[in-house]
Amino acid sequence: MRNIISVGCLAVLLLGSIANAQLSTGWKSHDLSRPQPKVVTASMKPGGAPSDAIVLFDGTDLSQWVSSNGADPKWKVVDGAMESVPRSGYIVSKQKFGDCQLHVEFATPKTVKGSGQGRGNSGVFLMGEFEVQVLDSFENPTYSDGSAGSIYGQYPPLVNASRKPGEWQTYDIVFKRPRFSEKGELVSAARLTVFHNGVLIQDGNDALGPTNWIRFNDYGKMAGKTEGPLSLQDHGNPVRYRNIWLRNLEETKKPKTEAAVDFELTPADAERLVGQYGGHRIIKSDERLVFMFNGNTPLTMVGLAATKFEFKESAGSLEFEIGDDGKISGMVIRLDAAGVRKANRTN
Ligand code: MG
Repeated sequence: MRNIISVGCLAVLLLGSIANAQLSTGWKSHDLSRPQPKVVTASMKPGGAPSDAIVLFDGTDLSQWVSSNGADPKWKVVDGAMESVPRSGYIVSKQKFGDCQLHVEFATPKTVKGSGQGRGNSGVFLMGEFEVQVLDSFENPTYSDGSAGSIYGQYPPLVNASRKPGEWQTYDIVFKRPRFSEKGELVSAARLTVFHNGVLIQDGNDALGPTNWIRFNDYGKMAGKTEGPLSLQDHGNPVRYRNIWLRNLEETKKPKTEAAVDFELTPADAERLVGQYGGHRIIKSDERLVFMFNGNTPLTMVGLAATKFEFKESAGSLEFEIGDDGKISGMVIRLDAAGVRKANRTN
């Protein structure tokens, strides 16, 4: 005979697939074995690099950069900023990155020249492939998917938060790299979230592929790639950059162990656990045993043995005690979030 818990679980799954299946992180709630967040010291200065950042440009030199052909960069350092030299080519970071948080400050030329795409054009390329457009978009209309803060040719910014020509501006970018299967098929697209001068302008948009002018690219040429350099565009305008730093973002940690499989509990074994235990209760609901913690917080039980359980969603265990008369006499509750508690059976 199938145990009542597994049958109940199947019913819950069937219902859940229609209406309200519980999403999962892979972890139970409040699991004390879940890794602690690493300590990072934030900068005291707005826009300053936190302690775990890789500083790519601090205003002094271009030691972290090369030209796109691998030669020494031809961009120049002026007044604590690096400046694009027209026709010198892109500047490319020596290090490569995948998922990251990027802070970059830029200023388009104070002396306004040209219009549309010809005014203060540069660009920040994640993995060397996905351009967040840099442009003087202050009172300078152009196609919206090519204005400042656009994911070039794909997504216009949500709003135009541009400052005046020559004024320093910021991009704060969260970049998730594309994922590929072992066969090289696209599993998930590159995703970009961008704040321009502190204003949200790209809200987790999935890139169609590497950005391009006039046409779209698919992900074919990137298959299997996990990292690429940060590059900054030379588009013929002397755009300046400063205070460039980046944090590598780690993959989300998965649990060490698989969830336990339901123990085969007979209906009689299940029934004898139902009752009052001080302020707590064991009830049956939809043919499942449920622990009513403090009488009012339902925690679904998963059988490990006839008298030992863990909880479906919360980290911890519940073990029943058997008295000299062979009857259930009490319980020991272990909840990572609430410590160890004992309760005697009271009915
Ligand atoms: Mg550009």
